[in-house]
Amino acid sequence: MPDVVVKNLRKDFGGNTVLHEVSFTIKDGEFFTLLGPSGCGKSTTLSCLAGLEQPTSGSIAVGSTVLVDDSSNKFVPPEERNLGMVFQSYALWPHMTLAENLAMPLNIRKVPKAEQKTLIHDALDKVGLAHLSHRYPHQLSGGQQQRVALARALVYSPKVLLLDEPLSNLDAKLREQARVWLKRLQSELGITTVYVTHDQEEALAMSDRIAVMSGGNMLQVAPPEEIYERPATAEVAAFIGRSN
Ligand code: ADP
Ligand code: MG
Repeated sequence: MPDVVVKNLRKDFGGNTVLHEVSFTIKDGEFFTLLGPSGCGKSTTLSCLAGLEQPTSGSIAVGSTVLVDDSSNKFVPPEERNLGMVFQSYALWPHMTLAENLAMPLNIRKVPKAEQKTLIHDALDKVGLAHLSHRYPHQLSGGQQQRVALARALVYSPKVLLLDEPLSNLDAKLREQARVWLKRLQSELGITTVYVTHDQEEALAMSDRIAVMSGGNMLQVAPPEEIYERPATAEVAAFIGRSN
């Protein structure tokens, strides 16, 4: 799977710059976390990757495929980016069974019906819920719904997984379990993952590398040990919870 290369990504809302030309590269198969306090620009970065927001300037590429580049006016729409997304609110369609929920992204991508059944089964199997495919979301626990949202993001075999605070609706105990489980699935699949959280512990426990963000800037991009042992600035140190 290819690297994700982000160059000089800037986003203005009205006159307000919320991302200041951030650049970073995510390696093939990496669990890469955007960590920082509320409002620092994590979700905006993810939305630009997903194509839900158009950057004011800069470029994003996955391998040799350019997804967005202001200098050539290139913009690939979300459904053509082959990225899987899970948000904080799982946003499953309540009037559809799990199988029907997973069929939606396949229909959008015009995957033939004959192939859908196997893909849906395999994706639900990855999250241990293949036996519940005919249930409706309200018949599941919060933890199970979160797994279905992940299965729905995986059903079309995306190149990259984008996860925006996917565990924050779970209570502390479930969150701990989900953390271990999600990390294991990610490394089994070897899928490049961009993970968003404001929780330092979660970031330190799960990530291959962490980008610490503040006010639309990236303060430090490094593996967890390095962030923890050698924070680049006092602000990083304060956010990680120890002083320089
Ligand atoms: P985070 O995910 O780190 O909490 P966001 O990326 O959601 O932060 O937001 C970064 C900043 O951009 C915040 O100040 C937020 O209010 C602002 N913002 C986000 N989305 C919009 C929008 N659609 N319109 C205007 N301002 C926005
Ligand atoms: Mg956010």
